[in-house]
Amino acid sequence: MMTAGIDSGSAATKAVLLKGTDMFFRIVPTGFDFRQAARDAYKAVLAEAREQAADHVAVTGYGRHGIEFATKTVTEITAHARGVSFMYPGVKGIIDIGGQDSKVIVVDSGKVADFQMNDKCAAGTGRFLEHTARALEVDVADLGRLALASNNPANISSMCTVFAESEVISLRAQGVAKEDIAAGLVESIARRVAAMAKPMGLKEHVALVGGVAKNEGIRKALERELGREIYVPPEPQITAALGAALLANR
Ligand code: ADP
Repeated sequence: MMTAGIDSGSAATKAVLLKGTDMFFRIVPTGFDFRQAARDAYKAVLAEAREQAADHVAVTGYGRHGIEFATKTVTEITAHARGVSFMYPGVKGIIDIGGQDSKVIVVDSGKVADFQMNDKCAAGTGRFLEHTARALEVDVADLGRLALASNNPANISSMCTVFAESEVISLRAQGVAKEDIAAGLVESIARRVAAMAKPMGLKEHVALVGGVAKNEGIRKALERELGREIYVPPEPQITAALGAALLANR
């Protein structure tokens, strides 16, 4: 049996295909047409596996209600809990930082025990990093590496993305090193997310997922903020799609 999971996100659409013990995955930009992005990602994993269709397809994420080839929908919270528990059995807390929201999920024996979500404010999400990286004239994918090279993070005090962009521009004009500004941005996100995570009482076995988890600086900054080690799975952006694929035939 073959199952697929599609995570239709605001920034990226992720597809995972499970065929026996093999896993195929693809990440495509969502763009303006989330349905087309879902079709493209699904077709890409099928082509890689040399298959025509999966037996069951579960969709999750922000665009999950509009996808015609879905046989099931699951919430992102449930999908992440399932996907991360598969990659990291025994996980007790999940921090997901995506393009437009961030979430903290408490997991008990693979099931969701509690969660919190920030989808009101871009600060603490990938969007904050995309906008401020642009102001810094660096690729968002290079921001983490740059941040790790800093010994003296700049203080980014603005919570609002628009003000933070102006702050980046003015720090650059003052001659502050790009590395230090990048580190300041990463710390700013980590502080925002930690403020949501701390009241949830995350203890041991915490995983960081979502596209922003690919930023190597974020894990370090969050570990400092939370005072504990954090695990990042090898492909942190696909955990909800993987969870959906695992739940597709349930
Ligand atoms: P969503 O589900 O909301 O679409 P994702 O979890 O797919 O969000 O994450 C998308 C975000 O991940 C983008 O906004 C971007 O900031 C960030 N991102 C994607 N790739 C990278 C990378 N290589 N390095 C750092 N950040 C990344």
